[in-house]
Amino acid sequence: MKVLITASEMFPIYKLGGLGDVIGSLPKALDSLGVNVDVIIPFYHSIDAANSHAYKSFELIVPFNNKSNVVQVYKCKIPKSSVNVFLLKNDTYFSSKAKSETETFVFFDKAVVEYIKLNFNTYDLIHCNDWHTGMIPNFLKEELGRERPKVLFTIHNLMYQGVGDTSLLKDSGIVPGSNKLIDFDTMDGDLNMLMQGILGCDFISTVSPTYANEILTLKYGGFLSSILKDRVGCLTGILNGIDYTSFPTDINDSTWLTKKKNHKKSLLNKLKLSTNSEKPLFSFVGRLDNGQKGLDILYDALPVLAKNDCNFVLLGTGDPVWEAKFKKLATSKEFKNNVSINISFNLDFANSIYAGSDFFLVPSKYEPCGLTQMISMHYGTLPIVRSTGGLKDSVHHLHNGFVFEDYSAKALKDVLEKSIVIYNTVQYPLMVSNALQTDFSWIKSAKSYLNLYVQILGKIS
Ligand code: ADP
Repeated sequence: MKVLITASEMFPIYKLGGLGDVIGSLPKALDSLGVNVDVIIPFYHSIDAANSHAYKSFELIVPFNNKSNVVQVYKCKIPKSSVNVFLLKNDTYFSSKAKSETETFVFFDKAVVEYIKLNFNTYDLIHCNDWHTGMIPNFLKEELGRERPKVLFTIHNLMYQGVGDTSLLKDSGIVPGSNKLIDFDTMDGDLNMLMQGILGCDFISTVSPTYANEILTLKYGGFLSSILKDRVGCLTGILNGIDYTSFPTDINDSTWLTKKKNHKKSLLNKLKLSTNSEKPLFSFVGRLDNGQKGLDILYDALPVLAKNDCNFVLLGTGDPVWEAKFKKLATSKEFKNNVSINISFNLDFANSIYAGSDFFLVPSKYEPCGLTQMISMHYGTLPIVRSTGGLKDSVHHLHNGFVFEDYSAKALKDVLEKSIVIYNTVQYPLMVSNALQTDFSWIKSAKSYLNLYVQILGKIS
């Protein structure tokens, strides 16, 4: 079986969030199960070819916007693996010269299909990820008809849909009225790339079983819920794993007590926070997106931590309004010595926060899978999460973390108070030990993906 995985990002070459982590890890785990897998992503301006050990391999000619566009294909390996990565380079569309993000990715999807055509009969299955790759199923049908490979479309976040101008269809060579799925989508005047992926693929997956159920409801799935319900027979959820080699640490089940103390002390010193290590340190690392990450209830619940003289550290970037709100909070009298707000994206800093904290907050409104709760457990830091999506599937209340139901500051405050009480009881070390022993290695998830690939292909090849 030969599989091509395609997405907008892949760690360590280019990472913006959890999607990058997944695309960097899943192929390696599949490779270790004997699946022949390649990855294809855009070659953005900011990627350093030398750093990635990428070399120019060949060229594709991609018809788009009435022109024949040259795409240079660079090739490298995912570090410490035999997985090939193809990087597609074009100075117009994969740079700030592109008119929009949707233009970038419609062009990317066209280029991926040209690559697949060039390698006709090589790939049994194309594994597309998120809206950035949503046009691929349709373009494959247009170009290869019945001879096209099968397509799995994985939704990592249904809220990001890649809504673009319908003129992109003309640029792609699609004649109005000639394609039923496109006509259905564009009735409302725009092109929805996520919807195209959902409608055009052979099978849909999401990144946790709970999220697969949630997106069938209007609350989580919005207008796409009815379309997903129509395809419920070919929808499943597979929980993401994490690549433990990306998070090296000296913390384990037998060392955590002393190691955590050391990491916490140096983190508190670095952040210039009150160094009373008897008090728990709470943390948050993530995108500052209030629509998803529960920033409003977090903000409103923080006085509970101040009241109990606990420390809180935040690392994140995103919505400027929320960046400013949190920064302002750190200067207020109530929080001055107990709160550290860091508006930046810094992987090493994130790891030192996971290692030095006692509790890690993920109060999301919705969370397709979430990786930070898994990463924090690996560092012996108990996650405090809302019961949604992958958070619900990975954290078990009072076993390896804390789970609260209602999306409200009150529910979060209650669970924070509970965690502060538990911190000084014998239950705390038991829970840390449970968290450290919870296994989220990719191999389990990769086996589920392999079973799904086999199911989609309808044969063992
Ligand atoms: P999402 O993909 O919704 O952003 P996930 O929990 O799936 O959230 O993954 C987020 C990933 O990005 C984690 O590896 C997390 O540590 C990392 N991350 C998020 N924000 C930052 C930041 N400001 N600095 C460093 N790493 C970050």
